[in-house]
Amino acid sequence: MVANTTQPSVTLNDARAMPRLGYGVWQAPPAEAEAGVKQALELGYRSIDTAQDYGNEEAVGRGLARSGIPRDDIFLTTKVFNNDQGFDQTLRAMEASLTRLGVDYVDLYLIHWPSAFRGLYLDTWRALIRLQEEGRARSIGVSNFQPPHLLKLFEETSVVPAVNQIELHPIFQQRELRNFHAQHGIATESWSPLGQGTLLDHPVLNAIAEKYGRTPAQVILRWHLDNDLIAIPKSVTPARIAENFAVFDFALDQDDRTLIDGLDSAAGRIGPDPDTANW
Ligand code: NAD
Repeated sequence: MVANTTQPSVTLNDARAMPRLGYGVWQAPPAEAEAGVKQALELGYRSIDTAQDYGNEEAVGRGLARSGIPRDDIFLTTKVFNNDQGFDQTLRAMEASLTRLGVDYVDLYLIHWPSAFRGLYLDTWRALIRLQEEGRARSIGVSNFQPPHLLKLFEETSVVPAVNQIELHPIFQQRELRNFHAQHGIATESWSPLGQGTLLDHPVLNAIAEKYGRTPAQVILRWHLDNDLIAIPKSVTPARIAENFAVFDFALDQDDRTLIDGLDSAAGRIGPDPDTANW
């Protein structure tokens, strides 16, 4: 396979382009999030993933501003949290996020979790449709949604989410959900793409890394890209932020991709199960 030397993007079902490698800031305290976002943008990242729930939207906004990169060149994602679900609450939550971020629009607004016990994700989705019509969110999508939740959105509104951001990494590959997304034109975005760092000492990944003269993190991120996924690794360590972006000049052989495909495990989930999460 010929290596990709430029930053790849995916065309979403609303015809907008989204970079396939972004920078995530969950659990980054404000000062580190601000510095990390600025550094990531300076290194060439053009996609940033935050959320109302991460408590660092203001810091992300400062990082964006300090980078000097034009707003229109940056793909910015944030998310409405569970306790703000509902039509009017979501419209208000979006205004608050835009104010904290210091921007007029986000590129992608996501429903963070279905939080199905509240019975509000459909009303929340209707609010996202309104926000897209108003230009406050250029693309709209969801996170942690399972097929029944997704089907309800299509059936009731005919608007298919552009993206579903889900836990996905080599030991939890979500093949069934990815197939469902492919059937319906939904882009799959991998959260915790490095398994929250727990996969970096895996012997198979280390052996592959050695073969390519790369690090395990780079091999894992390359696996996401080679599978047409969107990945948003997080680090607040400058050298690692750079390392995680230096993945466009090589590709994995089919044999190595197959080896990584074989690491999938039904017990590989690290984060909460959306079907039982009850907050
Ligand atoms: P991740 O898989 O990106 O792993 C991050 C951890 O791996 C870091 O804290 C660091 O300890 C380590 N690491 C990163 N790069 C490294 C490197 N090159 N070398 C060695 N160690 C390295 O985990 P994550 O932060 O959980 O996920 C990434 C992003 O996904 C988050 O920041 C957030 O934006 C998003 N996310 C979304 C949800 C959701 O519910 N939608 C949930 C979790 C995460």
